[in-house]
Amino acid sequence: MNATQPRLIERSVPGKVTIEWADGSTSVFTAADLRKVCPCAGCVSEATGVRTHDPATVPDDLEQSNLSLIGNYAISMQFSDGHSTGIFTFEALRRLADSGSLH
Ligand SMILES: [Zn+2]
Repeated sequence: MNATQPRLIERSVPGKVTIEWADGSTSVFTAADLRKVCPCAGCVSEATGVRTHDPATVPDDLEQSNLSLIGNYAISMQFSDGHSTGIFTFEALRRLADSGSLH
């Protein structure tokens, strides 16, 4: 059993992504939660690892659409602010959920 593997990804609510993990636990991410930690090169400097996108600019009512699987290790989605280049690995999502810093 791999705790970083999803059993179910629920994305029918525009403001949320809910992941049911293989270990039976469930994590609810708001679209804003995910946008704030977007790891793409447009949001985090590849050279320094420093976040260049200000999470404070993300509205709480941000929405997601077009969520798609990338291989069996990540998801990507379109955010309602027009951003769509982030790749969110299941490992990073699980770490985010377990960190207790959501919402
Ligand atoms: Zn990004």
